[in-house]
Amino acid sequence: MTARVLVVDDLLPNIKLLEARLTAEYFDVVTATNGFEALKICERGECDLVLLDVMMPGMDGFEVCRKLKANPGTLHLPVIIVTALDQTSDRVRGLEAGADDFLTKPIDEIALIARVRSLARLKTSVDELRARAETSVALGVTDAVDHRLDGGLGGKVLVVDDRVNSSEKILSALRDRYEVDIEPDPTEALFRATETPYELVMVSLGLANYDGLRLCSQLRSVERTRHTPILMLSDIEDRARVLRGLDLGVNDYLVRPIDSNEIIARVRTQVRRKRYADSLRSNVQAAMEMAVVDPLTGLNNRRYLQTHVVGLMEQSAQKGRPLSAMVLDIDHFKKVNDAHGHDVGDEILKGFASRVRRVVRGADLLCRFGGEEFVIVMPETRLSTARLVAERVRARVAGSPFPIRGGAETLTITVSIGVAESHGGESPDALIRRADQALYLSKSGGRNRVTVDGSSAAAA
Ligand code: GH3
Ligand code: MG
Ligand code: MG
Repeated sequence: MTARVLVVDDLLPNIKLLEARLTAEYFDVVTATNGFEALKICERGECDLVLLDVMMPGMDGFEVCRKLKANPGTLHLPVIIVTALDQTSDRVRGLEAGADDFLTKPIDEIALIARVRSLARLKTSVDELRARAETSVALGVTDAVDHRLDGGLGGKVLVVDDRVNSSEKILSALRDRYEVDIEPDPTEALFRATETPYELVMVSLGLANYDGLRLCSQLRSVERTRHTPILMLSDIEDRARVLRGLDLGVNDYLVRPIDSNEIIARVRTQVRRKRYADSLRSNVQAAMEMAVVDPLTGLNNRRYLQTHVVGLMEQSAQKGRPLSAMVLDIDHFKKVNDAHGHDVGDEILKGFASRVRRVVRGADLLCRFGGEEFVIVMPETRLSTARLVAERVRARVAGSPFPIRGGAETLTITVSIGVAESHGGESPDALIRRADQALYLSKSGGRNRVTVDGSSAAAA
C-alpha cells in the first residue's frame, strides 16, 4: 500500500526525520512548514494523509486540523497529530479538533508506520466510496451527499472485557453519551455483535482464556460487522499485539490506565467516521438499486433482466431443467394515452405491473422491458406450464377493469403474450426474440391471447 503523506512541521530537522522514515517504507512524502501551506496542499488534493505538528507559529496544529475537518473537500483526510508533550489533555484536544490519531515525540517508528498504514488503507476505501457516491450524484441518480461530519454521539457500544474494574471504568466514562453493553464472554460477544447494530466494539487484549485479536479478526470477517469500528483495550506490554491488530484492520486502541476523556474522544472519532462511511455506502447502494429498477412500476428494468437472465439460464442448463420466458405487450395502449392522457396511461402501467406481480411466483423474474412491454423469465418451468401461467395472466388482466384517475373511473385493458422455452446453449436474446415472435402472432391473431413459440423444444 502506498500513499502520499503530508508532513507538517515548522522545524526542518523534524521534517527530515519523518520524511526519511516514511520514504524508507515507500510512502511518498510532501512537506509543509506552516499551517497555511498545509491547508493549500490538502485542498488541492495532493496528499492522502497528514502528519501534523501541534506547536507551530501562526496557526497551530489544532487549528489546522479543525479547518481540514470543517471543509467538505478535506474532511476525509486522516490527520495524525504529532505532539511533543505526552499529555492526555493535548491528545484529547487533538481528537476533539477531529484528529484521527496522535503520536508523541520522540516518535516510535513502528507505531508511526502502523498508524500511517492503517489510516492510508482507510483513506483508500473512503475515497472509493466518495467517488462512487459523487458519480451517482453527478448522474442525477441520487441526492447530494451530505459531507458534514455527524457529532459521533449516541448509539450502542459493545465492550468485550472480563475485568470488572476496567469495564466499570469504561461504562462510567461513556454512559452519558452512549448505550453501553458489557460482555465478558468473547463467543457471546461475537454473537451479540452480529445481532445488534453496534456503532463500535471495544475488545480487551487481556481476556483471561481467549485471544482478543482472534475476536477482532472474526469481527472483521463476518459480513454484518465488517464495517463496525473496533477499538482495542491494551496494556503497555501488549505493544506488539496492538500493531498486529492494526494490521488486521482494527481501527484504534487505548492503553490502560484508561483516561475517560481520551476514551470518549476516540469513540467519537470512530463513530463519526463510521457514520460518514455508512452514509456514503447507502448512497452508493441506493444508486445501484435505482439503476436496475423502473421508477414508475417498481419492477426491475431491462438492464437488470439482461444481467440476470444469463445466470438463470446457466443454472437451468446445469441442472438440465427447462426455462421459459414470456413477452407481454398491452393491447392498443397508444389509444389509452390518446383518449385519456399520459397520466392515465401511467396509472394503467402501474396497475398492470402490480396485478401481474401477484400472478407470478417469487422465483420468476418480472421486468418492465420498456414502454408497455414486459418480460417474465421463469426458471425451471416447461413450456406447457409457462403457457398456463401466461393464460392466467391474460385472464386476470382482461377479467376486471383497472381503476383510473385515482379510482374515480375504470378502464378495461387486455394484453397479448408470446411464450418460448429455451433451447440448450441459446443466448438470452435469442430466447426473448422467439417469445417476441410468438407475441407478434398473438397481435396479428386478434390480440388478448397467448401464443406459444412453435420452435420451442417442447412445443410439439
Ligand atoms: P399494440 O396493441 O399493437 O401493442 O398497440 P399499442 O398502441 O399498444 O402499441 P404501440 O407500440 O404503437 O404504442 C405503445 C404506446 O405506449 C406508445 C407510447 O406512447 C406508450 N408508452 C410507452 N411508455 C409509456 C409510459 O411510460 N407511460 C405512458 N403513459 N405511455 C407509454
Ligand atoms: Mg402495445
Ligand atoms: Mg409495443
